[in-house]
Amino acid sequence: MTAPPEDEPVVHLLWINAGLSCDGDSVALTAATQPSIEEILLGGLPGLPRLDMHWPFLASEGGPDGGPDSFIEWFHRADRGELDPFMLVVEGSIPDESIKDEGYWCSFGNDPETGEPITTGEWLDRLAPKATVIIAAGTCSAYGGIHAMAGNPTGAMGVPDYLGWDWTSKAGLPIVCVPGCPVQPDNLSETILYLLYQVTGQTPAIPLDDNLRPAWLFGETVHEGCDRAGYYEQGQFTTEYGSPRCLVKVGCWGPVVKCNVPKRGWINGIGGCPNVGGICIACTMPGFPDRFMPFMDEPAGAKVSTLASGLYGDLIRTLRGITQRAVDSEPEWRRRRRATH
Ligand code: SF4
Ligand code: SF4
Ligand code: SF4
Repeated sequence: MTAPPEDEPVVHLLWINAGLSCDGDSVALTAATQPSIEEILLGGLPGLPRLDMHWPFLASEGGPDGGPDSFIEWFHRADRGELDPFMLVVEGSIPDESIKDEGYWCSFGNDPETGEPITTGEWLDRLAPKATVIIAAGTCSAYGGIHAMAGNPTGAMGVPDYLGWDWTSKAGLPIVCVPGCPVQPDNLSETILYLLYQVTGQTPAIPLDDNLRPAWLFGETVHEGCDRAGYYEQGQFTTEYGSPRCLVKVGCWGPVVKCNVPKRGWINGIGGCPNVGGICIACTMPGFPDRFMPFMDEPAGAKVSTLASGLYGDLIRTLRGITQRAVDSEPEWRRRRRATH
């Protein structure tokens, strides 16, 4: 791979992983293969602009916090308007700093003048007006996720809840949410790739659904891409793990969840929750996790559909059995025939 020429314009990517976050989406991105992050960074795909990525996960810059050689200085430069264009990736949910008595919920580097921590929310306030596009990576950043469960003390929320669902960047782009807990690696790398092409004028506007997800990645349900869907259709459900049958009775939410993981796999096309025996817990959905708990119980709405599928499936399997026996044998005439004369 050859990086684009030095004189081509640079797009900066600033990554804040200091929301309420476990860094799972950063880890996930290292596993992307279509495209890989190496291909994006080294310009291994046609038409890519030079990308300068400021990602805590792999950054090598040292230097004292706030000094000219420090990693965090890139963020101060963006804040001073010295980086343009830049894409802002946010990982983790944003706590509500106004609802605590003292201290702070989460921060990212220090203010060089005061030495005080800069909260994650303040970074969003500073950088959002200057960013060309904001990507919410992972469900926490998109919709609040696990940290925003009912009863949490932090008031955690996703980036669209923090900035407003109709927020648009100075370039007119809405927030782009790539949910998943963690995000499916290629979904994120492909979205970054799309937006790099878009900010350099090479693609039309990214198509998003009502929850700001890339429409082509989240347009179908888990169930529609699941390896086990044939068992569901035939009314064959398992009530224990270790079976190849449909997992809906042990808690799979796949029929109503928008996610392409069973089709795309997890790494290099391999894996994909129900395909490999794990129930779908709906981690890409705005209501995750509260609306889908307790996780190991059969979804309430599944009782009627599995009853209908069970009745229909019994009949279909019987009829299919008859057809299968007929087609699972050679035609009569493919035998040595005894001479008749
Ligand atoms: Fe971690 Fe999941 Fe939140 Fe990503 S969405 S930061 S993987 S808890
Ligand atoms: Fe649908 Fe889940 Fe059953 Fe797969 S395991 S067929 S996604 S209900
Ligand atoms: Fe999350 Fe379900 Fe997709 Fe797995 S299949 S990644 S649990 S939404």
